[in-house]
Formats: sequence, structure tokens, C-alpha cells
Amino acid sequence: MKAIIIGSGVGGLSLGIRLQSLGFDTTIVEKLNGPGGRAFVKKVNGFTFDMGPTVITVPHFIEELFSLERGQHHLDDPDFPEHVRRGERVTSGVSGGPNTSRYVTIVPLNPFYRIYFDDGTYFDYDGDPVHTREQIKAIEPTDLEGYERFHADAKAIFERGFMGLGYTHFEHLPQMLAVVPELLRLDAVRTLFSFTSKYFKNDKLRRVFSFEPLLIGGNPLAVPAIYAMIHFVEKTWGVHFAMGGTGALINGLVKKFEELGGTIRYNSEVTRILVTDPKGGEPSRFGRKIARGVQLANGETLMADLVVSNGDYSTTYMKLIDPRYRLFNTDARIKRVKQSMSLLVVYFGFRADGLKLDLRHHNIILGPRYEELLRDIFDRKVLSEDFSHYLHVPTLTDPSLAPPGHHAAYTLVPVPNKTGEGAKIDWSKVGPELADRALQFLDERGYIPGLCQRLVHKSFISPDYFERALNSYAGNAFGPEPRLTQTAYFRPHNRSEDIERLYLVGASYQPGGGMPSVMMSAKMTARLIAKDFGIL
Ligand SMILES: Cc1cc2nc3c(=O)[nH]c(=O)nc-3n(C[C@H](O)[C@H](O)[C@H](O)COP(=O)(O)OP(=O)(O)OC[C@H]3O[C@@H](n4cnc5c(N)ncnc54)[C@H](O)[C@@H]3O)c2cc1C
Repeated sequence: MKAIIIGSGVGGLSLGIRLQSLGFDTTIVEKLNGPGGRAFVKKVNGFTFDMGPTVITVPHFIEELFSLERGQHHLDDPDFPEHVRRGERVTSGVSGGPNTSRYVTIVPLNPFYRIYFDDGTYFDYDGDPVHTREQIKAIEPTDLEGYERFHADAKAIFERGFMGLGYTHFEHLPQMLAVVPELLRLDAVRTLFSFTSKYFKNDKLRRVFSFEPLLIGGNPLAVPAIYAMIHFVEKTWGVHFAMGGTGALINGLVKKFEELGGTIRYNSEVTRILVTDPKGGEPSRFGRKIARGVQLANGETLMADLVVSNGDYSTTYMKLIDPRYRLFNTDARIKRVKQSMSLLVVYFGFRADGLKLDLRHHNIILGPRYEELLRDIFDRKVLSEDFSHYLHVPTLTDPSLAPPGHHAAYTLVPVPNKTGEGAKIDWSKVGPELADRALQFLDERGYIPGLCQRLVHKSFISPDYFERALNSYAGNAFGPEPRLTQTAYFRPHNRSEDIERLYLVGASYQPGGGMPSVMMSAKMTARLIAKDFGIL
């Protein structure tokens, strides 16, 4: 049986591997000229820049993918085997498992992040309870007791939300209603920031223990506290890096997919998902439709027994499927979806001679305002004078990513998406100015002294890139925003309600964004397909 996957993001590749292991003949059709989607790689003058994801968590999800073989899908095995449940975290050497190591070398990072506050002080988050307590004590001793309670309550949320329900495909409302009392008992439905504020009086600590959802497009003031699980996911299995960059992981996934017999076609944008009536022939206006294949921008059609979209939810339905065949995912419904924030990401290379960098691999640089800045980005959708950064300096771990004597880095600034007031921002004008300001800030505040003189490469992406290159509605960087009303049952489903044999995988869909979730999404979608085709 033949399957077509639209898009070679982490979700498309992970599902491709799973469908090959289930016995399908899978073709991935990708618009860009290489794989990875948000995890695309830019190579310029000896510099290698991962354009998107850099923080690898839950290495066992990756190991699971690399362990699959044709005819061995392991979909009936426990999602969290015993050694994973025990949380055996590798803290030195190579942290990818033996199957992973045949494709890519994954190493643990310590600390996970250095979080800088606007007064120049910082918090090194490394998941070590003793070190964490020491740092809390130095900032606000009276918050130590609150940390113990936060730890216990966030752990309970992680155990239920991630280990227990993580792989649940919420397709029907009663499934969701059944877990609501428990989520209420865990206090997991209030916003993460207000959850964190219950335990910490100190503003710095409230920020340290609530910023993480920003890495997957969530507003700490709006995501439900169930996202406190991210803190625990990192603490339990660590934060890791793929030597050679995330692109090396993507290349490993492509290799595995092709070894299992899958095919990838680049420069192949899908312009239509083709449907017929159940008995074949031209689709009529009424009744259910069946996905039969795709039409490419060059006019070619590819037929298959099932079609999966790894693309953005809103664009997939609005642009690829005729509105006459969408009774559920209508344009009106999709326009009510709150899209996640967007990003300005500046990729830069600089001379390292005589420079002593006091940075870590992952640096969160918080600006003077937190709640108000989040409101500017997510609610008011305006660009403010101040900003926060995530600064990535991978050459501190892997110098091969830059020519000798140089560093490669990126700095990421959250910005509004292109809805509401955000639609009025002209990124062709504002982008270059903001990119320069971001680099000047790193120079003037001493994070990278003399950066502007040392610079040998600078380029950037803005909401325009997400919209035009990645086909993301309103330039969103992470799909629909993760918030209570767009979580679990309320997040787009992985089996289309409108079209039979059309499935969906990736950050837009359940369970959500971020590489581990997207790998979970692939497993959930593979299970739905296996069930529908009588394999499970
Ligand atoms: C800057 C940035 C940093 C991030 N950092 C992290 C991190 O550190 N850790 C982490 O876990 N997550 C991180 N994330 C989130 C993570 O990158 C994403 O959640 C994940 O990579 C999304 O994968 P995906 O499979 O949903 O698809 P995508 O990566 O969105 O890929 C979808 C693919 O579909 C293709 N496509 C779309 N439409 C069509 C069409 N019509 N025809 C053909 N092809 C099409 C696109 O070209 C693209 O290649 C980050 C995201 C960004 C943007």
C-alpha cells in the first residue's frame, strides 16, 4: 500500500520511518530543497547554522525511531519502557542509545540553560536538585520551601500528563471530559505563570520556572500548568545536543527512512490534496470524501492509499482542500484559531581570537519586563523597544560548526505573528533594524564583547519566512498556540474529521509542538493508520 506524506519536518520523517516499518511504501514530498522544515540547515562560508530546534530532550524517542525495521513497528510495546520510567539520565559521554549512535552522536549538555536576568545575574538550570536549591537560596531563601512544593506538584503533573496521557489521541469530547476532574485536582488547568506564582514570591524565580513553554510557542501567561511537565521532562532525561547540529539528526532520520525503502522528493510543493467519493470518480458536494493523492505545483499528480499532511494546520485545510469538502475544518473555524507567536532569528558568525566568552551553549537573556513583554507579543501584537533573547552558541560544544578561530551562533527574539496589529508590521523594513539591534545589544551588554567588529556573517529570518517558505498561516512559528482551548481534544486532530484516509502529523496537531511532542504525534498518527488499515 502506498502512502504520501506532505512535508519532511521532524514529524513527517518520524512518521515516514514508522509507516515504512508498518509495511507501507511511503513517499515524502517536500516543498523546500532539503529536509527538516523548521529544522532546516543553512550553510554559509564554512558556518553551519541550525535554523530552528537546538534543544534535544527525551533521547529515548529518537532511539526508538532508529530501532525500527521493516516489519518491526513495535507499536504494541510500552511507550515508556521500564528503564525509561526509572529516568536513567546520561550526564556525560554519549547520551544517544546504540541504535541512535549508528546515525548521529548525541551528547548531554550541562547546564541545560543559563538564564540571565536584566541586572546581569544568572541562574544555571541543570536539573540537579542540590545545585538548584543552592541557587534559589542565593536569590530568595524564603522561596526554598515553595520550590519543594512546586517540585512535588509539577512531578505529579508530569507523571499523569506526560507519562500517563502523553500518547492519548483525544478524538471525542467524552475522552476529554473524563480527565478534567483529575487535571483540576492537579491544578493543571490554571495558567503556568499563576501556578508558578503560587510557589515563588521572587520575580526572578517565577520567570525561571515558567519560561520553558516559550521554546514551543506557548505564552507562560496563557498555557495551562500542565506545561509544567516540560520542566520535569528536562530534569528527568536531560538536555542534549546532536554533534554536527540538529541537522545531523535530520540527516540520520532521512538515512533511516531511505534504508527502510522510503522515497523523498524535494522541490515538490503540494498544491491540492485530491479526493474522490468513496466509490471513486468525481467527488460530489455531499457525503464523505476519501483522500486519493496529491497534486504538485508542476501539475504532476501522485496517487496513494492514504495522505498525511505534516504542514501547518490552517494552511493544510484552507489551501490544500476545497472548502466544499470541509464541514468541520471550515475557514470560519480556522480563522478563530489563535496562532502561536512568530520569531526573528539572527544567524551570525564571528571571530573568536582573544575572546573569552562567559556564555553557555543555551542562554536565555530576559529583558527588564516579563509579563508586559509577553502581553505585547501575544495580546497587543506590537513590537516593543525591549526584548528577550534565546542565544544559541553551539560552537562551545562542537567547534566544527564554524571555520577555525570562529564561533557560529543564533539569537532568537519572540515577536508577534501576522494577525491583528501584527499584520501591520512591515518586516522588510523592521527586520533588518531589529536584527542589528539584537546584535548590538549582545555586544553592548557584554554578552559577546566587540561582536559588531568581530562579525563575519549575519542573516536573519522573520515572520515572512515562516509564512512564505514554510507555508505557516500568519507567519506562526509553532502552529496553533498551545493554550487550554487548543490543547488535547481542542487541538487539531491527527485523523481528519472531514476526509477519510487523510491524517495529520506535527507541531500543529496533538499532542503539540517541540521535537519530542512531534515524535509522539508521529507515533499516535501511525497507530491510527495501523488501526484503520487493520494492521494493529
Ligand atoms: C527557531 C525555532 C527554534 C526551536 N527550538 C526548538 C528546540 O530547541 N527544541 C524543540 O524540541 N523544538 C524547538 N522548536 C520547535 C520545533 O522545531 C518544531 O515543533 C518541529 O520542528 C516542527 O516539526 P513538524 O514536523 O511539525 O514540521 P515542520 O518543521 O514545520 O515541517 C513541515 C514541512 O512541511 C513542508 N510543507 C509545508 N507545506 C507543504 C506543501 N504544500 N508541499 C510540500 N511541503 C510542504 C515545509 O516546507 C516543511 O518542511 C523550535 C522552532 C523554531 C521555529
